[in-house]
Amino acid sequence: MPLSYAGCLCGIAAMVRLLKYIWAAPCSLFGLGCGLFLLLIGGSVRQVSGILEFSIGYGNPIPFFPFWAITFGHVVLGLNESALEYSRAHELEHVRQYEVWGVLFFLAYPVSSLWQLFRGRNPYWYNYFEIQARQRSGQKRLGL
Ligand SMILES: [Zn+2]
Repeated sequence: MPLSYAGCLCGIAAMVRLLKYIWAAPCSLFGLGCGLFLLLIGGSVRQVSGILEFSIGYGNPIPFFPFWAITFGHVVLGLNESALEYSRAHELEHVRQYEVWGVLFFLAYPVSSLWQLFRGRNPYWYNYFEIQARQRSGQKRLGL
C-alpha cells in the first residue's frame, strides 16, 4: 500500500519537530540542569505542550531569580505554577525563538540587550527577542 500524501506530510512535520528539539538541545540541557537544581530544593516539574516546566513552588528562595519565568530551549523555569501559567504564551514564544536560533540564542539575546543598553534604553524591555515575544503572545506595554 503506497504511503498517503497526508502520511508523508505528517512524517515530515515530525522530522522538522525533532530537528528543532535537537537544534535547541544545548540550551535545553542547560535549562534541565537548572531545573534539576530546583527539584533538589523542593520544586516540581511537569510537561506542557512539549516543554518541561520546572517550578520552585513556593515564594522565592533564590533571591537572584528576578523573573516570573525564564526559558532555556524547551525548558521553562518559573517561580510557581501560577507564574508559569500566566507567562506561558510569552515563554512559548521564547521556545520558538530557541528553535530558530539554537545555541546561538545564548549569544544573540545578550547582544540585543547590550545594544539597547548602549543606546540608553532598558536592556530587557527593548531587547528584540522580548519585543517579539510580547507582540506574538499578545502582551501589551504594561503587561509582563
Ligand atoms: Zn521574555
